[in-house]
Amino acid sequence: MSTLTHKVALVTGGSRGIGAAVAQRLTADGAHVALTYAHSKDRADGVVAAIEAAGGRALALQADSADPAQIGSAVEETVRAFGRLDILVNNAGTGAFGPLDQLPLEDIDRMIDVNIRGVVAGTREALRHLADNGRIINIGSINADRLPFPGGSVYGMTKAAVAGLTRGLARELGPRGITVNNIQPGPTDTDSNSADGPNAGNMLRWTALGRFGTTDEIAALASYLAGPEAAFVTGASIDIDGGFAA
Ligand code: NDP
Repeated sequence: MSTLTHKVALVTGGSRGIGAAVAQRLTADGAHVALTYAHSKDRADGVVAAIEAAGGRALALQADSADPAQIGSAVEETVRAFGRLDILVNNAGTGAFGPLDQLPLEDIDRMIDVNIRGVVAGTREALRHLADNGRIINIGSINADRLPFPGGSVYGMTKAAVAGLTRGLARELGPRGITVNNIQPGPTDTDSNSADGPNAGNMLRWTALGRFGTTDEIAALASYLAGPEAAFVTGASIDIDGGFAA
């Protein structure tokens, strides 16, 4: 028996980056995992194939987090396929950066729709099924608390909203033993923030450890929060940022 045997998880944005690592880690811990993607069907199918090759069970579902109906369908399909829902990981997110007066309104709307509305809508849908003693794990950002560069105001706002939602929901769901926590990564090497990308130099300067985090390091924290040993952790925003906020 592994820590998450008999548990079922839904990870939004699991085709790449942090979400893919979380999906792989939760299945290694014994959970069955559904993962959503927006566009990257091939990448999502590749994550599922890797999980199955390692002896796990997973399912890829196309669902744009900006569309509550699509997230609702993903929740229903998860429960239909695996019979229950214990863990929701709200990972799907998007970032657009630039001075507020130059950032296109469409980019601003997209961040609000995916990073805030998508998390709220996905959680509402999941709550129709989420088992007692379940887990909600949000992937926020250290930029909710620290923005050492200009141009990230709306992105930071969306992630601060996730931290606020986390606290309020922890109060609502505590009586059912459901914990709600918010992982706040610092620079993590993914497609959206590559360790050899144009901003990598600054990112390294802003961390105490002088390196990017890995998706596996973020997934290890998600694994802890999903597991039985974290049953007394709720309402928390937990930095995993190499000292970015220190
Ligand atoms: P990536 O760009 O590497 O991957 C994003 C994932 O989310 C993909 O699976 C993508 O699917 C999916 N996704 C994006 N938009 C949507 C949408 N509208 N609906 C459904 N799925 C969507 O991102 P990261 O792994 O870097 O980031 C994951 C989360 O971590 C985000 O919330 C981000 O804000 C947060 N974060 C990341 C940090 C970093 O340094 N990398 C630091 C702090 C926080 P598809 O492949 O189909 O596009």
